[in-house]
Amino acid sequence: PRSGFCSSNSTFYSKRTPFPLPSNLSLDITTFLSSYPHHGKTAFVEASSGRQISFAELWRAVDSVSTCLSDLGIRKGNVVLIIAPNSIFFPVVCLSVMHLGAIITTSNPMNTPREISSQMADSKPVLVFTTSQVVPKLVGSSLPIVLLDDQHVTSEVTGQVKIVTTIEEMIRKEPTDRIRARDRVYQDDAASLLYSSGTTGASKGVLSSHRNLMALVQAFSNMATPEEAEICTVPLFHIYGFGAFAIGKLATGTKVVILSKFDMTEMLSAIEKYRATCVPLVPPILLALVKDADEIRKKYDLSSLQTIVCGGAPLSKDLINRFLEKFPTVDIRQGYALTETTGFGASMLTPEECRNYDSVGMLSPSLEAKIVDPATGNALKINQRGELWLRGPSIMKAFQFRLLLIGGAAAVLGYLNNAEATAATIDSEGWLKTGDLCYIDDDGYVYVVDRLKELIKYKGFQVPPAELEALLISHPQISDAAVIPIPDDEVGQYPMAYVVRKNGCNISESEVMDFISKQVAAYKRIRKVAFVSSIPKNPSGKILRRQLMRLGLAISRI
Ligand code: AMP
Repeated sequence: PRSGFCSSNSTFYSKRTPFPLPSNLSLDITTFLSSYPHHGKTAFVEASSGRQISFAELWRAVDSVSTCLSDLGIRKGNVVLIIAPNSIFFPVVCLSVMHLGAIITTSNPMNTPREISSQMADSKPVLVFTTSQVVPKLVGSSLPIVLLDDQHVTSEVTGQVKIVTTIEEMIRKEPTDRIRARDRVYQDDAASLLYSSGTTGASKGVLSSHRNLMALVQAFSNMATPEEAEICTVPLFHIYGFGAFAIGKLATGTKVVILSKFDMTEMLSAIEKYRATCVPLVPPILLALVKDADEIRKKYDLSSLQTIVCGGAPLSKDLINRFLEKFPTVDIRQGYALTETTGFGASMLTPEECRNYDSVGMLSPSLEAKIVDPATGNALKINQRGELWLRGPSIMKAFQFRLLLIGGAAAVLGYLNNAEATAATIDSEGWLKTGDLCYIDDDGYVYVVDRLKELIKYKGFQVPPAELEALLISHPQISDAAVIPIPDDEVGQYPMAYVVRKNGCNISESEVMDFISKQVAAYKRIRKVAFVSSIPKNPSGKILRRQLMRLGLAISRI
């Protein structure tokens, strides 16, 4: 069966029409995307300045930047880091890097120097694109830097970093007919390296191939009706923004208005000014829109808005209904995806489907799913709850089959430098374990019930408990710790720590919180602490998180 549920192998097949992927195996995502020319249309607009870049200018800029990168010695397999707020240059950088067969990796510009250097130690970039504001966080790194803005870097910093050029200078360079050194790039080669903690442990680099990204493009280009103008409110360093706006929307020809970071007023003005038809949001922003709806509608003309795509974290039916009462002409389409699925999962793409508000939609084209009992490992049936497993063309690849076939080195994809986590997440048949508790009904709709994995999501941002636990345990007065999520209407979830003090120590709640907040980006801060005499663990030493979560919930309600 090619759609629906097949009981003999307990597999759910997508009901959507499958799409073909390009047959030419020697093809990179940038070349593939440039075959959608969108003559005469605007690709990106910078909301703050109004600066625009047409599709023609975009592809010319990509040619110039690829040429410059090649001249700087960037080759296939090299990793290039972009750590910057959203800008119209962000997609140019990503597309240029991937065109050379190099791998683009992203980082949150709000990260602390410690977080940035640990990510850099893992991904080993050879070049960094960043802004003057972020440069001071890179002091100590000897990597060449390309500036994405023309602000001056303060004189104390200039001598300590190696700024080689700016993106504007790169773009001004005439592209040569042939990039002097460009290796042959295959669809199965790695293209992007975005970070996610997956089902357990610290943040890991997710290697997605050009083919994974092409699957995403095909999904976007097969959408019912392309959006005319859309506001990019979500970060481009996260798969939500990267997949949709650095890649997907280039296929649909949508005019994308880029906010450098989320700002409610700037977003509302941009919807009005550019007559945006669609806005992607995360649930906490939707809540903020509902709360101030009356005032917002008085102040802004939002009549162009037809659709809100909401994803990244659970969205309650109650909130959707409250939103629809206030904005009855707007459709809400929930999106469910993971970094590991290259931003592709079950999602509401058609207006008919998006009215089933409890659900996150039907499986995307060509995706297969299983619902697996986490206790027994048995595959379950329609309407039964278990862990969602996914398989399909967008799932990060665990192996590079082409290389294996021709007897080359078995370049392992999946999680970078972490074969163990890769093997625990993707089985030998290519099934990705999402760590989400779900069920699928007779019509093929997917429902997310709970999160089985450790991951905490604060306003849609990933907070890996293992990272915070490792930091807590490094404190001289702390002998053990566990971090769990506390549900919260405003932010989704926030991290709470259970801490065991060392004998004779009396570290306080605020000292614990300060110790962490100095070392992590603001969204990862611990916002509640409880002291306990021991952390409950199973015989193999695994933290009993569910037990702590029940306790945490009780404490948070006091
Ligand atoms: P990320 O890799 O940061 O995109 O995080 C992926 C995880 O976010 C998923 O495994 C889910 O736990 C959660 N998530 C994303 N979208 C939704 C949604 N619509 N409903 C519930 N959880 C979601």
